[in-house]
Amino acid sequence: MNILAINSGSSSIKFELFDMHTSAPLASGLSESIGEPTSQQSYRLYKSDGSYDELSETIALKNHEDGVRRIAQWLVESKAIKDSSELVGIGHRVVHGGAEFSQPTRINTDVMAAIRQLIPLAPLHNPANLRGIEVTLAEWPDIPQVAVFDTAFHHTIPAYAHHYALPANLAREQKIRRYGFHGTSHQFVSTALARLLDKPPNEINSIVLHLGNGASVTAVRGGQSIDTSMGMTPLEGLMMGTRCGDIDPGVILHLLQSTDLSASEVDSTLNKKSGLKGICGANDMREVLRRVNEGDQQALLAVEMYAYRIKKYIGAYSAVLPHVDAIVFTAGIGEHSPEIRARACADLEHLGIHLDSQRNVHVSSDSCAIHADNSRIKIFVIPTNEELEIAKQTLHCLREADSTTTGRSS
Ligand code: ADP
Repeated sequence: MNILAINSGSSSIKFELFDMHTSAPLASGLSESIGEPTSQQSYRLYKSDGSYDELSETIALKNHEDGVRRIAQWLVESKAIKDSSELVGIGHRVVHGGAEFSQPTRINTDVMAAIRQLIPLAPLHNPANLRGIEVTLAEWPDIPQVAVFDTAFHHTIPAYAHHYALPANLAREQKIRRYGFHGTSHQFVSTALARLLDKPPNEINSIVLHLGNGASVTAVRGGQSIDTSMGMTPLEGLMMGTRCGDIDPGVILHLLQSTDLSASEVDSTLNKKSGLKGICGANDMREVLRRVNEGDQQALLAVEMYAYRIKKYIGAYSAVLPHVDAIVFTAGIGEHSPEIRARACADLEHLGIHLDSQRNVHVSSDSCAIHADNSRIKIFVIPTNEELEIAKQTLHCLREADSTTTGRSS
């Protein structure tokens, strides 16, 4: 029972094929620089023990159509599948589901039209996601396809937390509200936490820190998102690789009124030239930390700011949750940087947060606990797996649809 998860970007397509009986990956790949003369493709073909063979090729892929066609060919050539009849469904990552989509949704022309309508809310992402859906449908017209939205997990955020204090009519007209992102990751990790604690998700409250190039934090109450740091766009919240995160909106007005930067230049400044990169010139946390070790004061400031912002959100979300069972670190920085985890959790003992310095540096590739034995709040590192979450939600959506059409309840 195989499901293919697809994440289509503006010039890339990422895919992963899962056997849903075991949740094990069978194959994965990335096609980059689509539309350029030398598009790079890299693939992994997994063995039953979890190890994999890695392959790469350079084939000019003119467009996404070529990209998906090549993936379809490779899956058969590599014997990952015999033919497309072995696929029970395909799940697509769609960044913005607006207020419309609170669940993974079986794709049809109406759903595609609705995703198109949401392009103004995600002008960079939704068109690329939609393109991926169109070409995948053309390649595999008989395989059911499902859209899995980054925003969907945050639909449970109550009105008082998702509204901005703007004129209500204007906000309604312009669809301005907190939507939140990284939902598949926050959902995957909070479900994994419940398994780890051996409790049903609805009995657990957590603060989930997704720290990758983009970064967001979610307050999860009883398995549901009740607040998250990213807002109408992924610009709000934590300091990120190249995004500024929380900022006084007056700064934006000042830039527009007092400099000769255009609106799109301000956009690019806030999204691409700020964050770690803006403060110290590097956006890759490994490089930033290397510079800190060499005594670079700007890099140190960047790291201090980064950790301080995380700490402020831990404090804020400790206040909005009735109690906190666990804090979870995930994604590139969250999973791999003991230094950032230590800085983010430092001096929070008064909140019941005690990191164990030894456990923090000896983290395995699996989920593990890094809190001290006397810590009231548990602290975990849990690797995220957004592709597997997309595949799981796709299967769930298709089963629900089946049970509805056959009149059974699942
Ligand atoms: P994306 O948001 O693109 O999926 P990732 O989740 O892969 O990003 O996270 C990328 C970030 O993780 C980069 O800033 C990278 O420097 C950081 N990172 C990866 N490994 C380490 C490490 N060992 N120490 C510190 N940072 C790391």
